[in-house]
Amino acid sequence: MRAARIATTGAALKASRKAAGLTQRALAQLSGVSREAVQYWEAKNTVPLKWGAPRSFAKVLELPTLADLIPHNARAGGWGDTQKRDERARIDAWVEAQMVLWREREAQRKARCRVVCGAKTRKGGECRNKSEAGRRRCKFHGGKSTGARTPDGKERIAGAQRRRWAAWRANGLQ
Ligand SMILES: [Zn+2]
Repeated sequence: MRAARIATTGAALKASRKAAGLTQRALAQLSGVSREAVQYWEAKNTVPLKWGAPRSFAKVLELPTLADLIPHNARAGGWGDTQKRDERARIDAWVEAQMVLWREREAQRKARCRVVCGAKTRKGGECRNKSEAGRRRCKFHGGKSTGARTPDGKERIAGAQRRRWAAWRANGLQ
């Protein structure tokens, strides 16, 4: 099965791209192709890696081939329906594992991410400070807060919210 060695799947291409932390556009730029080309090949079942855009993807991403995704013993002895299902399952498992890695990395990135606070200031503007890592607000606007912890404190914030909503409803505004 020579062909199996030099091809991969669209799903594996996509998972590899995500695992590398690249957008479709970024991969397209690195590979010297259009974003549509990335989109096209990621939707394909089989992606031959010998030439064209897929060959460039393979260089950028070190794509796994079908031979990597399907261990040799699974390929021996014909290509029956059971075999095909088996291969599919192995490829899906690999793709899923890559996606789990990617999601973990994204979560870590998010936890480090700092944004502009944007809380309303007394002057009526928006706070321009950087938020605490992984939070939406800066240290002056609750970014360090863990929220209410004691039953007393939880009741106080719940009461404040109830009063706020009641006032909002009483105002008859949308
Ligand atoms: Zn702030």
